[in-house]
Amino acid sequence: MLNREEIAKIAKIKGNDNYFVSCYLNVDPVLNTKGDYNIHIKNMLKDTLESLDKNVRKKVKPDMEKIESNIFSNKRNFKKGIALLSSTESGFWKEFHLAIGLKNEIVVDKTPYMKPLLDVLDRYQRYAVMLVDKEFARLFVMHLGEIEEYKEVFTENIPGKHKKGGWFSLEQKSFERHIDYHVDLHLKDVIQQLKALISAGDIGRLVVGGSEEALSKTKSLFTKQMSDKIIGTFNINMVANINEVMSKVQTVLEKYENEEKNLLVDEMVTKAMKKENAVLGLDNVLSALREGRVMRLLYIKDYKDSGYVCGECGFLTSQKTDKCPFCKEEMKKVDYIVDYAAQKAVELGATVEVVSENKELKEAGSIGAILRY
Ligand SMILES: [Zn+2]
Repeated sequence: MLNREEIAKIAKIKGNDNYFVSCYLNVDPVLNTKGDYNIHIKNMLKDTLESLDKNVRKKVKPDMEKIESNIFSNKRNFKKGIALLSSTESGFWKEFHLAIGLKNEIVVDKTPYMKPLLDVLDRYQRYAVMLVDKEFARLFVMHLGEIEEYKEVFTENIPGKHKKGGWFSLEQKSFERHIDYHVDLHLKDVIQQLKALISAGDIGRLVVGGSEEALSKTKSLFTKQMSDKIIGTFNINMVANINEVMSKVQTVLEKYENEEKNLLVDEMVTKAMKKENAVLGLDNVLSALREGRVMRLLYIKDYKDSGYVCGECGFLTSQKTDKCPFCKEEMKKVDYIVDYAAQKAVELGATVEVVSENKELKEAGSIGAILRY
C-alpha cells in the first residue's frame, strides 16, 4: 500500500549524481479502451530520450528500456495508474500500481520525481473499516482501492453465553446485566482503538460492518466526530476473509461515490446555467479542452459519439472537418471521441469522473466539465 513514510523516504534519496527516470502512466481501462497507453508510452519514451543531452541519454537508456518492457509485460497487475521509478546506475527500482488514474509524465532528474504520488496522497482520503460484534472487533485501513487488516480487538474477561446460569450463580437478570456491562466495556475499548487509529492513521472516512444489533449499539457510542465520518454500514460475518470484506466495502463506496458524483453533476449544471466556469455538451467540452480550461470532466458511462481528430496536433471536434485548422493535416474520423476527450483531460491533469447513471447529465448532453477559469 502506498504510504507517506515510504514516499518521503524515496523522495529523500540522493543519487550521488546518478540519474533517475520517473514514469507515470494512466492505464485506466475506461480511458484506454484499445490499450492506447502502449502508444503513449512509446512516444513519451522516444520524445524524452530525444530531448536529453547525449551523455545523459546514454546513462538513462537502460532505465527507459526497463520501463518499456515492464509496461509491455506486466499488464495483469494494472489497475488505473502506474508509477515506475528507475535508476539502473544506483541499482534502484520501484513500481506502484494504483487504483486511481495518473497524468502521463516522464521526468529525468538526479532525484526521483515524487510530486504526483504526494498529490495522490493529499487528494485521496484513507478509510477505516471496522467489523464489530459483542466480543470481538476487526479494524482495517483502506486507501486507494487497497485494504489491509490493521488489528483485532478482543476484550478480556467477557463471560461466554455457554456459562449462562452455570457457575456464575447469579440470578438471570443480574447475569444479563453482567454481560451488558462487559459488552459495553468491550465496545468502549473498540471505540478507543478506533479513535487512536483515526488520529494516527490520517483517516477521513469510516465504514462499519457487523450484525444489526452490534451496529446500532456501537453507533450509539460514537462521538460526533466519528459519526460524521461514517459513509455507510454493511452486514457481514465476523470471520469473513479480506476479499469478502473488500467486496462489501466496495459496494458501500460505490453507492457513496455515486451520491457524490450526483452532487457534482448538480453543481456543474447549476454553474453552467449561470455561465460560471462550467460547460455542458460535447462541442463546448471539446473547446474547453482545447483551451486547457478543464478541471473536472464528467460523462455518462455508456455515452458514445463520433468525431474527428487530427493525428498531428490532437485537435478534436465533433463537426465534420477535412483539414485541421491549426496544422492543415488530414483529420481522421473516430467512433469514440469521448475516449479522446477523456485522454486529453488526463493529459491536462484534470480529473475524469465516469457517472454510471444520471438523468440530469443525460439531458444536458451526457458530458460536461467544470472549468479552472
Ligand atoms: Zn492539427
